[in-house]
Amino acid sequence: MLPAAALMLVLVLAACGPKSSGSIVEGKVNVITTFYPIYEFASEIGGEDANVINLLPVGVEPHDWTPRSQDIINTSKAQLFLYNGAGLEGWVPNFLKSLDSDSKAQAVEVSHGVNLITSDEEDGHDHGHEGEGEEAGHGDSLHTDPHTWVSPKSALVMAKNIKDSLQSVDPEHTAGYEERYQKLADRLTALDHKFTEELGKLPNKEIVVSHQAFAYLARDYGLSQHAIMGLSPDAEPRGQDLVKLAALVKEEGIRYIFFEELVSDKLAKTLASETGVSTMVLNPVEGLTEAQQKNGDNYFTLMEKNLQNLILALQ
Ligand SMILES: [Zn+2]
Repeated sequence: MLPAAALMLVLVLAACGPKSSGSIVEGKVNVITTFYPIYEFASEIGGEDANVINLLPVGVEPHDWTPRSQDIINTSKAQLFLYNGAGLEGWVPNFLKSLDSDSKAQAVEVSHGVNLITSDEEDGHDHGHEGEGEEAGHGDSLHTDPHTWVSPKSALVMAKNIKDSLQSVDPEHTAGYEERYQKLADRLTALDHKFTEELGKLPNKEIVVSHQAFAYLARDYGLSQHAIMGLSPDAEPRGQDLVKLAALVKEEGIRYIFFEELVSDKLAKTLASETGVSTMVLNPVEGLTEAQQKNGDNYFTLMEKNLQNLILALQ
C-alpha cells in the first residue's frame, strides 16, 4: 500500500506531463475514462447524453502513466469512472481513495466478465504498480494480462459493461444508451467475424511482437504470440530471449517482426535486421498518435489495419 505522501509525489511529478482532454459539463452525465478504447466505446454509447473525458493524453501509452491532480478534481465531480482493470491501471485504488469525500463517482472495471489470461513473466517487471521498483528476479509470479480490448470478442464484453454502467447512473436515457450500444455491438460482432474468417484461412500462425499485448487476440483467433518485451513495454529483454526469438524466426520462416507506434521500435528493428526479415506495425490500440487522431482513426480503423498486416505477414 502506498502512503499518501508518496501518492502526492507521484501526482506532483506527473503534473509536468501533457494534459488529459475535456472538462466537466454541468447537466450532463460526466464520464471519466482512463485510456483510449474505453473512451471511444463510452463516447459512442454515451452519445448526446454523456460528456466523456479521457485521462490519458494523445500519444502516450498507458502502462507507466499516472494521474494528475486535475484528474482527481474532474473525477470527483463525475458520475462514472470507467477503467480497464485486469491490472492495467495499478494507480486506481489510491486514485479512488483520493477523490473528494462527497464524490458520487461510481467506479466500474470495464474488463469484468472477460475470461482473463495470466502470464508467467520471467523478468519480474509489472504493470503500473507505482513504487514497487525492486520486484525483479521472481521467476514464478503470475501476472494478469490486461490487454483485453485487443480482441473484438472481449471488446464486446467491455462495451456491454459500459452500456450497463451508463444506464445505471442515468436510467432516464436507457433507451438511447441501448440503441447506440446495439450499433457498436453490431460493428464489433462484424469485426469479430472478419477476424475469425480471414485469420482462419492463413497457413501461418506465429507472430513476433514488440510487447506482450496480443494474447487475447491470439487466443480468440488461433494465433501464437512471441513477445520481445513483457506485458509492459518498459523492461529490456534478456539477451538469451532475443537469441531464442531469432532462432524461432529462422525455424518458422517468419517474415515480419511487428512493432508499434507508441513504443520504441529499436528492439524489433534489431531482431529483424539480425534475422534478415522486415518489420510491420501491429497496433495494441492503447492510444492514438497525434497523426492518427488528426486522421480520424479509431478502434475499428486500427484493428482493420492490424488484420490487413496480419494477412500480409501470415500468408
Ligand atoms: Zn500494453
